Amino acid sequence: MERHTSDCFYFFILKLRMSSAQCKDFWSKIMKKIEPQVQRAQLITWFKDTALLGIEDGNMIVGLPLPMFLNWHLEHYKEQTLKTAKELNSDIQQIVYKVDISLREDSARTIDLLSLFPDKKPRKLPGRQEVKIGEGLTGKMLNPRYTIDSFVVGACNRLAHAACLSVAAQPGGKYNPLFIYGGVGLGKTHLLQAVGNELLRSKPNGVVLYTTSEEFTNQVIEAIKHQKMEHLRRRFRKVDMLIIDDVQFFASKERCQEEFFHTFNALLEGGKQVIISSDRPPQELHDVLQPRLKSRFERGMIADVQMPDYETRVAIITDRSKDYEIFFDRKVMEFIAEHVTDSVRSLEGILMQAVAQYELEHRMPTISSITEIMQKLAIDPHVKKDDKKDIGFELPAKRAPRFEDVLEGVSRYYSISIQDIVGTSRVRQIMIPRQVAMYLGKRYLRMSLTQLGQRFSGRDHSTVLHAVSKIEKKLNEDTQLLREIRAIEEEVGVHA
Ligand code: ADP
Ligand code: MG
Repeated sequence: MERHTSDCFYFFILKLRMSSAQCKDFWSKIMKKIEPQVQRAQLITWFKDTALLGIEDGNMIVGLPLPMFLNWHLEHYKEQTLKTAKELNSDIQQIVYKVDISLREDSARTIDLLSLFPDKKPRKLPGRQEVKIGEGLTGKMLNPRYTIDSFVVGACNRLAHAACLSVAAQPGGKYNPLFIYGGVGLGKTHLLQAVGNELLRSKPNGVVLYTTSEEFTNQVIEAIKHQKMEHLRRRFRKVDMLIIDDVQFFASKERCQEEFFHTFNALLEGGKQVIISSDRPPQELHDVLQPRLKSRFERGMIADVQMPDYETRVAIITDRSKDYEIFFDRKVMEFIAEHVTDSVRSLEGILMQAVAQYELEHRMPTISSITEIMQKLAIDPHVKKDDKKDIGFELPAKRAPRFEDVLEGVSRYYSISIQDIVGTSRVRQIMIPRQVAMYLGKRYLRMSLTQLGQRFSGRDHSTVLHAVSKIEKKLNEDTQLLREIRAIEEEVGVHA
């Protein structure tokens, strides 16, 4: 669609003097210069699928893949982009933005930002999943992402975090053994592994044995079966830190418990750090643990983790979205934090789905797309009915779209304020969204022309009629407008 204003949606027939390879090259140079000044997640979000379309008479024509990018660029990046471009080519005087949604599927013109700016942080687990401590004794790899720094602290987990910090600084010191308990998905594994990672960082030759109670039990059972317990005990002497996750699954076999007791005692006496997690406090583990093992744990340091409060949840989302390299609107983050109320894991689950939607379908996370994800997760046929309370969020109630929803949808899509949409400005950039809002109101909300007119600064019904027919007519010939309207309809939840 061609649109004309001095600043945006400006379009003219391009006589490209630059080849597309030259355009790409120049745009990469600009990206490289901008990159150090912009947060990586922001850069990837807002420059993904953008392209330099050409330079003509001092105008640098920049293609944007979605209308909602336009105001964002005008507000946040125009000045910086222009300044950088001028430094590289002094002929450039102006930037002209052009929305071209075909850029989203056009890797010939756009740059692969992810490979241009590879992530410096390690993101994947190394291939080796197991760490061999010695014959018959193996542990699991620690996930490098689980660090003390990446753990967001709030009232819900402050004590546990402080205890872990202290143990990391002084393993085998006064908090030994350390016992962390709390519900599923609240950060126990994260904290436990963070202490292990910290020990390995400060002491690269240290030996950390991280394992789950089931695996640990299996190894002990194997050793007992093959009469190699003496051998296994010797292996334990090599360990500086023993971390056993989810101790509630300990086998209550008499002989195993006996071995555990001796192993723990030997480690503790040898000044080795022992860290344990469980879904409940030691005093509630009587059906799993022998009394003397239980009381051994009770004598150590005990701290719980609980569901983070709203502010901490927002902080976790902010942090994780940086890792996922996706930009979430503040309102969207708050919406997620408000609804996901019983585990950090389900909170992450929703973020990951939103990232997938963004990467695969180029859908920005919005309140309505997140609601959709929540609804999808809640009706997952794999989730048993009884487990539903573990899904971790309250489902926002579904209600029929209202006129306000249409206004919000249009406003978000075109990045134009609601006041502007219902206001009186005659700038083309605002006129089209306004006409679209009128069209949607008429088509889906059964509002009369007069009612609609009142909502748009008291316009009379003939003005509304004119706008609606204009859009209807345009839709027959303008496929981009059609796609825009479909996207807004989807966002608002109205359908043809
Ligand atoms: P648990 O072991 O208690 O079931 P996890 O440690 O596996 O829970 O946590 C689930 C996910 O939530 C992990 O990806 C973890 O990084 C994340 N997480 C939990 N709590 C926090 C927190 N306070 N700050 C940052 N990430 C957290
Ligand atoms: Mg865990």
